[in-house]
Amino acid sequence: MLRVRVWRGGAEGSFQDFEVPRHPSQTVLDVVTYIQRHLDPTLAYRYACRVGMCGSCAMMVNGVPRWTCRTHIDKVGEKLEIGPLRNLPVIRDLVTDMREFFDKWARAKGEFRGARTKSDDFARVQPQSPARTQADAGIECIGCGVCYAACDVVAWNPQYLGPAALNRAWTLVKDERDKAGIERLRAVAGDAGCHACHSHVSCTERCPKHLSPTAAIAGLKREVSKAVLRGEL
Ligand code: SF4
Repeated sequence: MLRVRVWRGGAEGSFQDFEVPRHPSQTVLDVVTYIQRHLDPTLAYRYACRVGMCGSCAMMVNGVPRWTCRTHIDKVGEKLEIGPLRNLPVIRDLVTDMREFFDKWARAKGEFRGARTKSDDFARVQPQSPARTQADAGIECIGCGVCYAACDVVAWNPQYLGPAALNRAWTLVKDERDKAGIERLRAVAGDAGCHACHSHVSCTERCPKHLSPTAAIAGLKREVSKAVLRGEL
C-alpha cells in the first residue's frame, strides 16, 4: 500500500491521508484517480488526455510541480504528498484557478498578429532560418503551468508575467510572419515583464516538455535592449 496525503478544501484547507494499492507503472494521476473513484468521490482534480499533451493535470508532488500523468510513483518515493499548483488561487482540492495564468499570456500579447491579405500566397518560412529555430525551441508549450508554479519571482511579485507567457511572447517575436513587433516588446518590457526575471532557472529545470523559458526571457531582454538603443522604446 502507498500512503498518500492529498490537499482538501481551498486555500485554508489541509491534507487528508489515504492508502492506495501499488501497481507497476503507476502514475501520480493514477493514484488521484483511484482515490476519487474508490475512496472519496468528492475529490476535485483536473485532467484530460492522460498522455502528456493537454497540460491540465499539473499538481504539486512532494513539494515539486509536475505533470502527474507522466510522473511515475517510483520516481517520487514511498510517501506521496499531492497538492494544488503553487502560485495560483485554489478553487478546491487539487484544482487551481488558471485565469490569472492565461490572462498574463494576453497581457504579454501572446496572440499571433498576421498581416496577410486574402490575395497573399502562403508565407514561406525556412525551417532552418535562425529566427525559426529560436521560435521552434519554445513552441511546444502545453500551458501546464508547471513553470509558473516553480517560479519564485511569481511568488514574490504577483504582477510578474511569468515564464510561460514570456516564452509564448518570445516565439512570436521570432516569428517572421507576426507583425506585432514593438507593441509586443513594449508589453513584455515593464517592471512585471522580462527584466523582473532573476534567471533562477527553476522554470527550465521543471518544464516537462524540456523547453527553456529562461532562454526565451533572456532573448526578450536582448530584443528590448536593442529596441531601446534604437530609440523605439
Ligand atoms: Fe508547461 Fe513548459 Fe509551457 Fe511552462 S513552458 S507552461 S512548464 S510546457
